[in-house]
Amino acid sequence: MDFDDTPDQARLRDAVRQFLVDHDSELAHGDGAYLEEPGTDRVEGLRRTQAILFDAGLIGLTWPKDYGGGGGTNAQQAVVNEELHRARVAGPIGHVGLGMCGPTVLGHGSEDQKQRYIRRLLRADDLWCQLFSEPGSGSDLAALRTKAVRHDDGWHIQGQKVWTTLAQHSRYGILLARTNPEAQKHRGLTMFVVDMESPGVTVRPLRQMNGHQSFNEVFLDDVVIDDSERLGDVDDGWRVALTTLMSERMAVGGGGGELGVRSDALVAHAASRLPQLSDDRRRLTIEALGRVLVESLAARYTGYRLQTSVERGGRPGPEASAGKLTAVRVAHATADLGQRLLGDEAVLARSVEGDWRWATSQASTPGIALAGGADEILRNILGERVLGLPPDSARVAPRPTPPSESR
Ligand SMILES: Cc1cc2nc3c(=O)[nH]c(=O)nc-3n(C[C@H](O)[C@H](O)[C@H](O)COP(=O)(O)OP(=O)(O)OC[C@H]3O[C@@H](n4cnc5c(N)ncnc54)[C@H](O)[C@@H]3O)c2cc1C
Repeated sequence: MDFDDTPDQARLRDAVRQFLVDHDSELAHGDGAYLEEPGTDRVEGLRRTQAILFDAGLIGLTWPKDYGGGGGTNAQQAVVNEELHRARVAGPIGHVGLGMCGPTVLGHGSEDQKQRYIRRLLRADDLWCQLFSEPGSGSDLAALRTKAVRHDDGWHIQGQKVWTTLAQHSRYGILLARTNPEAQKHRGLTMFVVDMESPGVTVRPLRQMNGHQSFNEVFLDDVVIDDSERLGDVDDGWRVALTTLMSERMAVGGGGGELGVRSDALVAHAASRLPQLSDDRRRLTIEALGRVLVESLAARYTGYRLQTSVERGGRPGPEASAGKLTAVRVAHATADLGQRLLGDEAVLARSVEGDWRWATSQASTPGIALAGGADEILRNILGERVLGLPPDSARVAPRPTPPSESR
């Protein structure tokens, strides 16, 4: 990857920077999705922000023009993202739609579904959620038990999902359900689009230890889905889900380390506090600052590697897993910086202006390490597919499954 802007990219950067200056007062700002809960009062402002950015061509730049996208390159989107980040514009509220559901609809949906859904998804006219995890299936996603049974009036869905980010604000979700209980567990699944306003859908928000309610339990009680809302073939849902999972890792790992926690804002805050610290604490804080900066560089360059491989026509593969792992290391190093700076207070810190972000960072990091594939699962993927190590023993017993069938 060439790190200097081409003349076209430099022109794009100038135009985006000017647009963001001109429209600053209309846009929502923030320090990262995990540090600020998209509470109901904030959701409308965040949706408006995404719509303004979409109308200006700054969201969906790489998506096909036929469905409202810009038909541009990843390099252009990277320039735009850098400028949005620099201007502290809040991350898109529709991140689950943009990062996971939209690519899945584009990859496997009918022409009619793409026409109906994609433009509205890009503009946050409709928010989307991902209905995969269940109480008994997270890393081992293919163990899921939510059932879809075909009747004359459509597919009848019965089951429960959990950890469904944004479900309480979403109009649609992509739902992975078991359609063939007799088949091998990866073979009997099918993907659907579900209208979250359908009779039988109940969404119950969960409160996390960071105080937010960003994800939910979703109960599906005889929800009927028309067959035209199927994504991909019957019993071929695992292949469709792999598109979602790879896109998810690309979305979280391709950004070069800003996994919902803006470490730069926290680093600046820690640096500003250095003069008030005792000698010992200052030394510890400076060491921790150094670690954040090193991990951030590792994440940024891993993200560039991922973007380069996609730019050259590659599909996000193990690089996406590496990208997510390095981004999680930045989040851990940032949480550790908070402890060096404030000691035990880091967990409770709310008194000094801006300190609340450290407490949120402490409480959010464990979740960040799980979402989109837990660290151990991603290391298993890298071990098997990049290093050629023997398969994960948890999957080998009792029945071996090919590496492409891990979460
Ligand atoms: C912030 C956040 C947002 C999320 N959003 C969504 C969402 O929108 N939609 C959705 O469907 N899900 C969502 N999830 C759920 C997420 O996908 C799961 O948490 C994740 O897949 C892990 O599953 P689990 O929580 O059941 O943990 P488990 O799978 O039970 O894992 C527990 C621990 O065991 C380890 N482990 C499990 N299997 C192995 C193995 N074979 N080898 C080594 N170690 C192993 C894991 O690494 C982990 O440390 C979200 C989670 C979080 C934290």
